[in-house]
Amino acid sequence: MNDLTVTRQTFDEVMVPLFSPAAFVPVRGEGSRVWDTQGRDYIDFAGGIAVTALGHSHPELLKVLQEQGSQLWHIGNGYTNEPVLRLAKRLEALTFADRAFFANSGAEANEAALKLARRVAFDRFGADKYEIVSFTQSFHGRTFFTVSVGGQPKYSEGFGPIPQGIIHLPYNDTEAALKAIGAKTCAVIVEPIQGEGGVIPADPAFLKALREACDQHGALLIFDEVQTGVGRSGHFYAYQDTGVTPDILTTAKALGNGFPIGAMLTTTAIAAHFKVGVHGTTYGGNPLAAAIAEKVVELVSSPAVLEGVRTRSELLKAKLAKINERFGIFKDVRGKGLLIGAELTDAFKGRAKDFVTAAANHGAMMLMAGPDVLRFAPSLLMPLDDLNEGLARVEKAIEAVTAAKATTAEAAR
Ligand SMILES: *Cc1c(COP(=O)(O)O)cnc(C)c1O
Repeated sequence: MNDLTVTRQTFDEVMVPLFSPAAFVPVRGEGSRVWDTQGRDYIDFAGGIAVTALGHSHPELLKVLQEQGSQLWHIGNGYTNEPVLRLAKRLEALTFADRAFFANSGAEANEAALKLARRVAFDRFGADKYEIVSFTQSFHGRTFFTVSVGGQPKYSEGFGPIPQGIIHLPYNDTEAALKAIGAKTCAVIVEPIQGEGGVIPADPAFLKALREACDQHGALLIFDEVQTGVGRSGHFYAYQDTGVTPDILTTAKALGNGFPIGAMLTTTAIAAHFKVGVHGTTYGGNPLAAAIAEKVVELVSSPAVLEGVRTRSELLKAKLAKINERFGIFKDVRGKGLLIGAELTDAFKGRAKDFVTAAANHGAMMLMAGPDVLRFAPSLLMPLDDLNEGLARVEKAIEAVTAAKATTAEAAR
């Protein structure tokens, strides 16, 4: 090993080709700005895929990382630790829940939730109550159980027989849900806003109907708040603005602001079905991750931060509407808080990636949510100057993509 020079090209030589990262390589971030190896700056609307809710290099998180890092990183679940107990207390004070299980990712939080729901149904009703109701286009993670439950078959195909007893229904279709939820249903899992599936908010009446059907049939309602949670929607958890309370809630992404941690939250009665040794994890709830998450929860849950999300949300949506007046490329701008999706018109169908690439060329990072939707999930603290300048860069990128299309159309004529 003598040459450790690395570039974007190195990715194609040394990595399993599961991703197709941007042409530039980020090396540093501060707030809502990121710099690459060439010293170019980018304004960050991607937030590490709805993760860096407090931006990059937040000084208070850095302080906790250093302090806890010099105390204790990991001890294993043969011992408990103070940060994880404080984190559980904080989350429980903010939600319906009174029990927490910590893991390292959203997929693992959902894996625990689905296993728990199956176990509760088994204990309470016997072996025949195992059906999990999920929705098309939903996303719940990449473990084999969670891709099987998720509503995007492309993620579960080609890996052998999938776990049985999972059904997929159209999202927001109350009638279909009421017909399908019954004696065999052990759980319904739903995202209050489908994130990866295209930034599609659930109709409150749909969630209410799911709650009632679950109660009627002794099934558990699981809200996957991995993307919508920790302030993203303008409420600490999105369910808090729906009038519907789940039995189990999963959370990850912004919970550690980039330090891996996920959690499953539930009630004492439901948690009691997981006994010592029935489920587990090596890293989950380690003191370093928990200390950071504790600080994230403390900061994000402040009324000022949540109010700021709603202000930024309105600004972002208004700006996107303005951009759309000029270019007419969006058929819908939707979402809540700082999880906003702009769906492209039919003329640009399938071209979200082109806009993301163009935005990078113009110094802005953003996401797609499927091939037809541009997604914005920036820091909840994004400075308003960055928001405005970032959207000016996005507008230039849109101008470039639409101009290129006009030229191609002319040439074809
Ligand atoms: C990202 C996401 C997951 C998976 O989280 P990982 O940390 O990548 O395992 C699960 N559910 C939803 C709604 C997500 O957005």
